[in-house]
Amino acid sequence: MAAELSTRRYGKKLMDPVNREKRRLTALERLAIMDTGSEERFDRLINLARRYYNTPIALFSLLDEKRQWFKSKRGLDLKETPRSIAFCDHAIRQDSVFVVADASKDERFCNNPMVTGESHIRFYAGMPVREPGGFKMGTLCIMDHKPRDIPEHELDVLRTLASLIEDEVERFYHASQYQKQVPVSRLNRAIQRAQNTFHTDDDQDAVFEILLSDLLVLTDSQFGFIGEVLTNSDNNPYLRVGAITDISWSPESADRSQQRKTRGLLFERLNNLIDTSMLSDDVLISDGFESDSQAGELPPGHPQITRYMGIPIFSGDNRVGLVGLANRQEGYTNKLAIELKPLLQTVGQLIERKRMYQERQEHQKGLEQAANFDSLTGLPNRRRLTELFEQELTFADQRQSALSICFIDLDGFKGINDDYGHSVGDAVLKTVAARLQHVLRECDIIARLGGDEFVAIIRDVENNAVYERMLEAIRRPISHQDLTLDLAASMGVTLYPRDPSAPDLLLRHADQAMYAAKDAGRNRYSIFDFETHVNRAERVRILEQTAKALGESQFEMYLQPKIVLASDQVEGFEALIRWNHPEKGLLGPISFLPQLEHTEYAAAVGRFVIADAVAKLQHWKQLGLPYSLSINLSPTHLLSDMLVEDLQAALQGCDPDIRSRLIIELLETTALDDPGKIMSILLKCRDLGVQVSLDDFGTGYSSLDHFRRLPAQEIKIDRSFVSDMLTNAGDEMIVKSIISLSKNFKRRVVAEGIENQAMQDKLIDMGCEQAQGFFYTKPLPAIAALAWAEAYQNVNRFQFGHTIRR
Ligand code: C2E
Ligand code: CA
Ligand code: CA
Repeated sequence: MAAELSTRRYGKKLMDPVNREKRRLTALERLAIMDTGSEERFDRLINLARRYYNTPIALFSLLDEKRQWFKSKRGLDLKETPRSIAFCDHAIRQDSVFVVADASKDERFCNNPMVTGESHIRFYAGMPVREPGGFKMGTLCIMDHKPRDIPEHELDVLRTLASLIEDEVERFYHASQYQKQVPVSRLNRAIQRAQNTFHTDDDQDAVFEILLSDLLVLTDSQFGFIGEVLTNSDNNPYLRVGAITDISWSPESADRSQQRKTRGLLFERLNNLIDTSMLSDDVLISDGFESDSQAGELPPGHPQITRYMGIPIFSGDNRVGLVGLANRQEGYTNKLAIELKPLLQTVGQLIERKRMYQERQEHQKGLEQAANFDSLTGLPNRRRLTELFEQELTFADQRQSALSICFIDLDGFKGINDDYGHSVGDAVLKTVAARLQHVLRECDIIARLGGDEFVAIIRDVENNAVYERMLEAIRRPISHQDLTLDLAASMGVTLYPRDPSAPDLLLRHADQAMYAAKDAGRNRYSIFDFETHVNRAERVRILEQTAKALGESQFEMYLQPKIVLASDQVEGFEALIRWNHPEKGLLGPISFLPQLEHTEYAAAVGRFVIADAVAKLQHWKQLGLPYSLSINLSPTHLLSDMLVEDLQAALQGCDPDIRSRLIIELLETTALDDPGKIMSILLKCRDLGVQVSLDDFGTGYSSLDHFRRLPAQEIKIDRSFVSDMLTNAGDEMIVKSIISLSKNFKRRVVAEGIENQAMQDKLIDMGCEQAQGFFYTKPLPAIAALAWAEAYQNVNRFQFGHTIRR
């Protein structure tokens, strides 16, 4: 009822389903294709479908009233099935591809014996195939034992193959109605197919397969091939076969077809017709292949060839491809070749376009290569190195492992370039690059920075032998033409993460170490010492700040009293320098004085210390305070010729009593440095009226004679002996003997570093005259020190009568 209504409304009588099925069956019967033998032309096409979609099963299936029967099948062990269980019966009700992604989950199929039984079908995609009259006779389908999900747009090849099957059917089962001429409609369809597949497909071989199928159908040929004609590096043409009919040439034909899939079959100098047609710009026709002298020998196992036609494919004037067709029953004619021209022209253009695209890609690759690699050695260049280096550092951080960054510079390379010319120089660089690559592992990086400079980045170096091996590789004589060249290299290495600098700094450090290797006599490696480097950098910073500190009076002398043990009175003070650093706060001398050593600032600070001391002594004199003041001077300043001048200048116009209260402390070790020089300086000091004290005595092992001759009035026993003398008999002995030595040579003896009563008492027992240390007070700013001293004197004056010492 409803159907009738709608038919009426559209005013056109639709064929009813029963009627349509009847006529469909009649058309199928007229073709007389059911239950005929298998045919290669269909087998080829379903194979192509199977290969393209990588499915185990592909079928060309036909449906008659009761059953589905497979005209061509791969991967399925059945000849036919009842129609009731045929997936294809569903497919022929559609106009497009019918897809079942997972049959076990599909209501319509989950109980189907094809799904539940041995065949174990899960995936199905089938495209209806029509007979020449337009009725759907069956399908081309692919199946898989596992569920799959092939998107709609990827099913184009299946559609194309189904239409090729239709053409084949038309040709063989309906042929009598056509004249023996290439029908224009089919040619146009083939052209369309060629264009579509070339556009949508990057599997070139599948494209050629479809083209070949078209050509076989269009010309009624039994065998054929299609391929590109290319030229090798010697400018000789060769044929790269894109598609060839599956003919059993030999037991290895299976291998060949496998090969074809990946790389294409190459024909070179076959010495037969294919070869001849490959070289010719003309169509080549051979009607009696057997007797043709050009035919040459066919490969063993090749089926017989009776007739052959080779048609070159052109793009413009360029021969870009070749089609070979064989065994057309009625033979080949030039007319046939002309009829095919529109199709082959299209193919020519498409091949040309594809080539241009490939060339452009190769050009692009070439540009990239040039931007990242050194053209001479093929090693990564500086730009590429930067990228690789960053990656390596990240990788090393992740694995918490080490990297060696090596900077290599050839020794005497310039000489080779100058003496033998640049081409020899280039050859040497290439050899060096290759040898370095050989010595290192795959994961290590070797790059050329330019000139004769290389950089290697090596993972996890366990010992230095690898550096030696690299240098050794360069040292081996290099033969070039009739020359034997000897070369060497200097190499600097820095180790990440011990040197935790940024990449560019790491390279710079390796470079610095390389220069150190050159300085040390070349032909060796040197490892960058990060700690020394940091100290040096620190030193540079301190030096820069010192000038400013002097100008802005950031230095200040703290005072630590020296106590006369017998009377418990303050005899005087030792001046100890402090730096009121604007950022770091109060700094002790250890954190900056060593850095000034061996620079002009050692004397500059010394002059400040001297001037400050003289000013204090003058001031104290005015206050009526007869304290002495000891100052420390650096070895650099002491051993320079300037010290005496500086003292002279500072003491200009000073009374002798002021001069005699100034005590210059000189390290015993310095006194040993250059005995002659020290002697003359100290004598001049004595002439100036100042006193001299030998500081840190006991550390320098002066000979008795030296000690006796030095014009020093005072000896200071080094703190290390004093602090340990209560527990260490050896140290006690040293303290004792220094005291007795001093007494014998009539020198005043001072002990440093008294930190408690017991130490003081022991020193008194041993006959030490003066003492200094935290037991009394730490060094204090001048005003506080004076106040401390005054208080101390008062207390002790009061207690003195009782002979009780603190
Ligand atoms: P030094 O000449 O041996 O000075 C004595 C050092 O021992 C001072 O350290 C002082 O603070 C410390 N000291 C004093 N009593 C004790 C104690 O009981 N226990 C301990 N543990 N330490 C005590 P400071 O001030 O840090 O000076 C260190 C060194 O720096 C001095 O050793 C001296 O060689 C040098 N120095 C200090 N001021 C100057 C200066 O103006 N010029 C030069 N060239 N060197 C200086
Ligand atoms: Ca001192
Ligand atoms: Ca000392």
